[in-house]
Amino acid sequence: MTLTPERTASDLVQERRLVTSVPGPKSQALLARKTEAVSAGVGISWPVFITQAGGGVLIDVDGNSMIDLGSGIAVTTVGNANPYVVEGVQKQVAEFTHTCFMVTPYSGYVEVCEALNRVTPGDHEKRSALFNSGAEAVENAVKIARVYTQRSAVVVVEHGYHGRTNLTMGMTAKNMPYKNGFGPFAPEIYRVPTSYPFRDGPHDGPEVAKWAISRIEKEIGATNVAAIIIEPVQGEGGFIVPAPGYFAAMAAFAKANGIVFVADEIQSGFCRTGDWFASEHEGVVPDLITTAKGIAGGMPLAAVTGRAEIMDSVHAGGLGGTYGGNPVACAAALGAIRWMEEEDAPGRARAIEAAMMPRLRSMQENHPAIGDVRGRGAMLAIELVKVGTMDPDPERTAALARFCVGEGVIVLTTGTYGNVFRFLPPLTMPMHLLEEALGIIERGLEATA
Ligand SMILES: *Cc1c(COP(=O)(O)O)cnc(C)c1O
Repeated sequence: MTLTPERTASDLVQERRLVTSVPGPKSQALLARKTEAVSAGVGISWPVFITQAGGGVLIDVDGNSMIDLGSGIAVTTVGNANPYVVEGVQKQVAEFTHTCFMVTPYSGYVEVCEALNRVTPGDHEKRSALFNSGAEAVENAVKIARVYTQRSAVVVVEHGYHGRTNLTMGMTAKNMPYKNGFGPFAPEIYRVPTSYPFRDGPHDGPEVAKWAISRIEKEIGATNVAAIIIEPVQGEGGFIVPAPGYFAAMAAFAKANGIVFVADEIQSGFCRTGDWFASEHEGVVPDLITTAKGIAGGMPLAAVTGRAEIMDSVHAGGLGGTYGGNPVACAAALGAIRWMEEEDAPGRARAIEAAMMPRLRSMQENHPAIGDVRGRGAMLAIELVKVGTMDPDPERTAALARFCVGEGVIVLTTGTYGNVFRFLPPLTMPMHLLEEALGIIERGLEATA
């Protein structure tokens, strides 16, 4: 079946329709049960319990149909319950659910690695390894870089986000809620400046890279560094697109010093930014690339892909895990990747950017609280400040988000200062729903002024 923005992944009617207040009574009852059953440490952004999703909508237990601008945090890029994914999963789950690839392998794992080696940047010889979560992929990229270089230091940047395991918490910048009270963290992790054009004043990409490199040379020593790990567009840090030249300068420094350059494309990868991978926009071919989120249409899967000589430097048995590259998750990934190739997913992301950017820019003209409009493809954001200053306005950002959800538009905020309103629509979002959602955001800006 050919999918178009109008003819979407599931048969759900593509409309925003509220039949109760949000959250409705059934969601509220489930929230009460959640409080009794689920650890308080597992927070919920919006207590709206979902029963079905597809195209550009989420349906809740009360029968509300809401516009999805979050894709479950950049995961359901190919649309929820995408038929290519559903078909692959249903077939695989009926054949076998698990053998452990490290014990008795299966072809789906190999096929996903072949696909990853094909679609990631660079035409050099590559290898991949599969895991369950983004954090696990980042941990393994560090393991691989340390074995390959026989060095220990890991360089990350300000506003970076890499996960919630012990090693990746140490690599993540933001304290609350990710790190607070969970230390001590792993040693040999060093944080250097990143390019944040909205807040860097007159300093351009190469200049910020120079500061970062000087810090590495003076405080760590380049010959001690195993890996530099950077998101080409920062996700949880605030959808920060580095100034031109920053990312490339960091990659060139790594190359000149025998350091493994790792692009963490867990959020920005798989067609999200209008390229298959955001590194391409920067003209950078990373040594290793970590992926997860958008890879498998919502099934848990993650990967490290990179230069064969680096990936093959690890002793047999050194990488793996019981579930890594589960056959059902692999079938989902093969379906999602096929859809992305057949349906020109990067083109769809660019079409979303073309539709949204002019609207966001005109909102910025009318609302001086929008300090910055940024992003690429279907990974866009506005940063809210107190009018007339550069001071972050997380309260207004939260109020705007609450307004949108109350009107049936599921949104996400982000950023080190909590003042970034981010847009991650699935690439199956019908244009009329996108327009409607933008209208509600504009009303929200007026209502929260
Ligand atoms: C989400 C994310 C991770 C962690 O992925 P999990 O699957 O949540 O462990 C790592 N890096 C980036 C850039 C991410 O956005």
